[in-house]
Amino acid sequence: MKYFKGGIHPRDKKDCRFDKIQTIPLPKRIFLPLRQHTGSQAVPLVKAGDLVAVGQMVASASGFISANIHSPVSGKVVSIEKILHPCGFGVDTIVIDSDGKHDTTQFQSVSPEDLSIEQLLDTIKNAGITGLGGGCFPTHVKLSPPKEKKVESMILNGCECEPYLSCDHRVMLEEPKKVLEGLRIMMKVLAVNNAFIAVEDNKKDAIEVLRKSLGTDKDIIVVKLRTRYPQGAEKQLIKTISGREVPSGGLPVDAGFVVHNVQTAVAVGDAVYRGKPLYERVVTVAGCVRNPGNYRVLIGTPISDVIAACGGIFGEVKKIVLGGPMMGVGIHSLDVPVVKGVSGILVLGNATAKTYEPSSCIRCGRCVSVCPMGLVPMMLSRLAEKGMGGELKDYSIFDCIECGCCAYECPAKINLVQNIKTGKFLAKRHPIKSQVKNKGL
Ligand code: SF4
Ligand code: SF4
Repeated sequence: MKYFKGGIHPRDKKDCRFDKIQTIPLPKRIFLPLRQHTGSQAVPLVKAGDLVAVGQMVASASGFISANIHSPVSGKVVSIEKILHPCGFGVDTIVIDSDGKHDTTQFQSVSPEDLSIEQLLDTIKNAGITGLGGGCFPTHVKLSPPKEKKVESMILNGCECEPYLSCDHRVMLEEPKKVLEGLRIMMKVLAVNNAFIAVEDNKKDAIEVLRKSLGTDKDIIVVKLRTRYPQGAEKQLIKTISGREVPSGGLPVDAGFVVHNVQTAVAVGDAVYRGKPLYERVVTVAGCVRNPGNYRVLIGTPISDVIAACGGIFGEVKKIVLGGPMMGVGIHSLDVPVVKGVSGILVLGNATAKTYEPSSCIRCGRCVSVCPMGLVPMMLSRLAEKGMGGELKDYSIFDCIECGCCAYECPAKINLVQNIKTGKFLAKRHPIKSQVKNKGL
């Protein structure tokens, strides 16, 4: 193994890893934002007053990089209006009242052997599948690399390296056959003969279950990786498994790989074998909730309903994060819905979500030594504070994966990631790359 440079070892706090997946009760009302994937917003196919069935497509992809959206409930469309999205802005959203039934008998399954690669891709696209690891990139796009790029192998990402999260772990333990079904379909679409399932060594039981499910099959290798954050980031995963570097500004396919998440594989298997579009996912709910655990949640369920179904909040809450604590997004209202990319709901109390007053940089270099992308975070942060967008490009700001290792390690508690995010915005507005290096900063 060629381990990636940098990284950190935060306490994993994966106390929910032993909790079997439970199902959140059917919500009375669901909210389906038309933007819950990378790319252009979907276009609604329904209007207020329409009756919809479970799994019915209610919004269609608008362009190649976009994704269909399906109703997770049967019921009546109440409205299409701007509703607060987890990103913090109002987004056009289809609001549906559930009729309390959940009839899924209309789904039609097919055997992947009967379908061509084009038909499989169409099935995946029609099912509205996006990356469920948090990236939300439409899966059919990732499965359609440019003709001139050669895909040699696929990596199924079961690392789940963020603290607290254990939903992927439970899916691998409880649904290994579905994981493998989906992986084999994706291998067929990509025309690759081999694949890796990458799992960190803090999930030895999942490694064992997957290897057992594979039996004597040799085309898929379950790789046990040393636990280290951000092992699950695509570029770091490729480096560890193959020793290859994804070039700056490049994609995994430039190193010969395509990477997908384990829950995405399950969604692909569900779409093909069971005719079921993506309208639910497994989410870890942890922190100050009475019944933390791993829950199957319908897309569009308000966070408040999920928390209520988990017994409600206790204690004083400082912050609620969607996703993991390192790369997740803080929300300011419990009214926002679960969208396809939400892997965790973390209710963090005062002791966990401490805030610090930043002090001056002491030039200790710790941020540099932990950066998995080989960047100089302190310099990126200073350039961003000074508004030097052109120089930020010289320091490869767009290579930053916003993993948060630098901020985690910084003894001065400088808001490095926040500053770098601002810096990316500034750099985008500077089309000409500066030739001036280090202006006495
Ligand atoms: S957030 Fe960006 S700069 Fe900081 S450690 Fe991660 S990749 Fe490096
Ligand atoms: S870790 Fe913090 S204090 Fe140390 S060099 Fe980086 S920014 Fe400065």
